[in-house]
Amino acid sequence: MSEKKTAGQQRYDELSYEKKNYYETASEAERKAMYDYAEGYKRFLDDAKTEREACAAAVAMAIQKGFTAYRLGDPLSPGDKKYFVNRGKSVVVFRVGTKNLEEDGMRLIAAHIDAPRVDIKQNPLYEEAGMCFLKTHYYGGIKKYQWTAIPLALHGAVVLKDGRKVEIKIGERPEDPVFYIDDLLPHLGAEQMAQNAAKLIEGEQLNVVVGALPYADKEVSKKIKLTVLNYLNQTYGMCEEDFLSSELSAVPAYPARDVGFDRALIGAYGHDDRVCAYPALTAVLEGETEHTVLAMLVDKEEIGSEGTTGMQCKVYEDLMEEIALACGANFRKVRAASKCLSSDVTAAYDPNFAGVYEKLNAAFVSCGTCMSKFTGARGKSGSNDASAEFVGEVRAMFAREGVVWQTAELGKVDAGGGGTVAKFLANLNIDTVDLGVPVISMHAPWEVISKADLYSNYKAFLAFIK
Ligand code: MN
Ligand code: MN
Repeated sequence: MSEKKTAGQQRYDELSYEKKNYYETASEAERKAMYDYAEGYKRFLDDAKTEREACAAAVAMAIQKGFTAYRLGDPLSPGDKKYFVNRGKSVVVFRVGTKNLEEDGMRLIAAHIDAPRVDIKQNPLYEEAGMCFLKTHYYGGIKKYQWTAIPLALHGAVVLKDGRKVEIKIGERPEDPVFYIDDLLPHLGAEQMAQNAAKLIEGEQLNVVVGALPYADKEVSKKIKLTVLNYLNQTYGMCEEDFLSSELSAVPAYPARDVGFDRALIGAYGHDDRVCAYPALTAVLEGETEHTVLAMLVDKEEIGSEGTTGMQCKVYEDLMEEIALACGANFRKVRAASKCLSSDVTAAYDPNFAGVYEKLNAAFVSCGTCMSKFTGARGKSGSNDASAEFVGEVRAMFAREGVVWQTAELGKVDAGGGGTVAKFLANLNIDTVDLGVPVISMHAPWEVISKADLYSNYKAFLAFIK
């Protein structure tokens, strides 16, 4: 027995807007597809904890799909499937389409593959009180106290005195040792706990414990340090001076896991922004398209997109120009006709911290990938504010393709804010809007996302390149 809706209620349903939980509207087959897709994503997360590893993992996936290496200046023709690696730390996976490039432009999806972490200093090693430590300088915006008393793995590369490069990855296999940053016991923590949270653990207290076994020689004064140096020398051919030309990072040592009895969520280190990079990559690898499409997986977003591997580097523009040239197209016309989804995460509404959100314009977990017309802080400052026209175009495309999505701002007005790479692409005269997955506990060593939102993001990218 269903009660008939009143005319007013029907009219309200027609005219009003409310976001919906994707899990509620998905068919059983679609829910299964969400969970299946998440399995590949979790493997990617575990393989790709640093930008170097994410780049290598993306290249391996591209090769499997028949993509081949591209260098600036190589000839290109319609139908080509290529990947362009920039210094081993960023990668653009792209397909040359059959459509007229000057009229159709490029479809760009930009995401970043660096994540907040604790980097090892250039002269890091010291011994004190029966332990050996590595000094660190954190990377990106972290709550420093969250990085203590958890198992850490060391990842990175060292260029040795003789010029050879060795890759280090220790702490990920079950048989590996792990590392950790110590914290104070609560019994002696009264003074610490009275501090402002930013001062609970100071930057110079983020020291990583890496050893405690004295070298068996009475004459040596730094016995534990020698044990560590000896290990590094025998395993990697390193001496202490080689830290000078190293890039080593301490990252959480645990793998991605399902969260909750129903497994609807995924907890992991580094969802920001692999939860957008992986769908961008898989969409370009697998999607059907006649457009020229690029998945741009870039580095250094967490520290301002600077340097040779960050989005502000000219190399990405050079690559796009080379593609245009190879297709005999005017690059300025190509840029003007191009469209970009700048894909980065946003803050999911967290009921335990409701005060920093404005509910009507907050992203909710499982309501789909989230469009942010603008980002920025203090009156949209520093933001690419996408036009209503471009948002309308993307919205119509999502409606056509049945993409479940939502829109939000990052927190309530003046509560804080944040930026993305969107403005750097928009500055090239390319219509750009932010679209990415809502995250709980963003920038913590354990972030949480919904499988529904991950899958929605993937579907949005498939629609965008179709
Ligand atoms: Mn991000
Ligand atoms: Mn971030």
